Amino acid sequence: MDAVNPATGEAVESYEDHTEADVDEALDRATDAFEEWKERPLREREQLLENAAEVLRENRREYAEIMAREMGKPIDQGISEIEKCAWGCDHYAENASDYLEPEHHPSPPGSTVKTVYEPLGPVLAVMPWNFPFWQVFRFAAPYVTAGNVGLLKHASNVPGCAVAIEEVFREAGYPEGVFQSLLIPSDLVDDALEDDRVRAATLTGSGPAGRSVAATAGENLKKTVLELGGSDPFVVLDDADLDEAAETGAWARNQNAGQSCIAAKRFIVHTDVYDDFLDRFVDEIESLTVGDPMDEDVDVGPQAREDLMADLHEQVEDSVDAGATVVTGGEPMDREGAFYPPTVLTDVPEGCPADDEELFGPVAAVWEVADDEAAVEKANDTQFGLGASVWTADRERGERIARRIDAGCTYVNQLVKSDPRVPFGGVKESGYGRELSEAGIHEFVNRKTVWIE
Ligand code: NAP
Repeated sequence: MDAVNPATGEAVESYEDHTEADVDEALDRATDAFEEWKERPLREREQLLENAAEVLRENRREYAEIMAREMGKPIDQGISEIEKCAWGCDHYAENASDYLEPEHHPSPPGSTVKTVYEPLGPVLAVMPWNFPFWQVFRFAAPYVTAGNVGLLKHASNVPGCAVAIEEVFREAGYPEGVFQSLLIPSDLVDDALEDDRVRAATLTGSGPAGRSVAATAGENLKKTVLELGGSDPFVVLDDADLDEAAETGAWARNQNAGQSCIAAKRFIVHTDVYDDFLDRFVDEIESLTVGDPMDEDVDVGPQAREDLMADLHEQVEDSVDAGATVVTGGEPMDREGAFYPPTVLTDVPEGCPADDEELFGPVAAVWEVADDEAAVEKANDTQFGLGASVWTADRERGERIARRIDAGCTYVNQLVKSDPRVPFGGVKESGYGRELSEAGIHEFVNRKTVWIE
């Protein structure tokens, strides 16, 4: 696997792919490790997770630099991502025992009936490159602490991140085999999934990858959680604080160079404030600094790969050919590296890519709508259902609208974000299952009923 720096196009490092024999050995190690790991007192598993948080914090700059080199994340955003991973570890180190406490049920006199939570075994996690540390810790912190063991198949452009994450667990003191990275291409995922030693799978990534993993897991009757794409609406109502909405909206679209599943992608604006909002929004977008991800003053780095930038630009061109107007940006930047400028499209016609596909880069599409009803209709007019954000001075109106949007989470006067304390996941083509919080740790456990007479 070859890591390539998207800011320069230069090779970073090459990693030897794991062979089928390596994978076989890793699965044996995972199976052996599981037998002992599941018997470890939960408190000890929580303590190891505390250690992992410490390792992450100690090495945050080093890990952020690997992300910057391999996928172009600006260094400050990388450091924040590592801190968030440590927070996720802290959360489960503090709360796993409560979340996994047996639940007692009403039962006839003289009997005790409860649900206990037991781990399933080795879980295969197929992960994307966009938040290369956070996506992994989001699954690993709860699932491994619940007593499962983890097998990571990371995206092929971030092998250095995969190796570094395995090292975090080793340095934290985890036994061998409890967390392993498999450096394999995606066409070896099915073989691993079909193997009896793998008990369940989770995938964060695109719809086609999710469908493929779900189909193979389905044939083998294995549980899956899928965290897929999104095209989140960002609804601005006529009583919204427009400065706040424009500033937050610009950041919600452009952080991580726009490569976030929960980025605001479709801006739906009430007609009475449309012009005012658009002016402010475009000013905010144009004030973002694009450049070298190693530079601490940079807001927007390169796209993670040249081919991904080419795909994004094709979506923009097809949307413009269909009638959309480019207000700012719209062409790859005239410099070395995969740099695409923050872009705003208006007059977006129905059915073009900016309307009904996910734009996984710094391109915002803006619509004008007549009223709340039209805003809800436009917000729901998508195959996706991940997150949504609604802006209004009236909290009750905001909640009413937020409740009518088909999404896994809706935020009023706030950008959509994941937080270890609250469930995260999608509906419709954004996937199924939940990560984080109590809901997340309950996804890969056997909820076993125990009846004692
Ligand atoms: P991707 O191409 O689907 O890749 C994601 C992972 O799946 C990679 O490890 C990839 O391996 C693997 N993969 C690809 N095709 C596969 C197949 N047919 N079978 C098994 N594994 C396969 O997605 P991406 O471009 O890295 O990430 C962007 C997508 O992820 C966007 O749609 C984004 O919205 C979504 N995402 C969702 C969430 C969420 O929480 N809902 C979070 C982040 C990203 P290779 O790299 O080796 O191909």
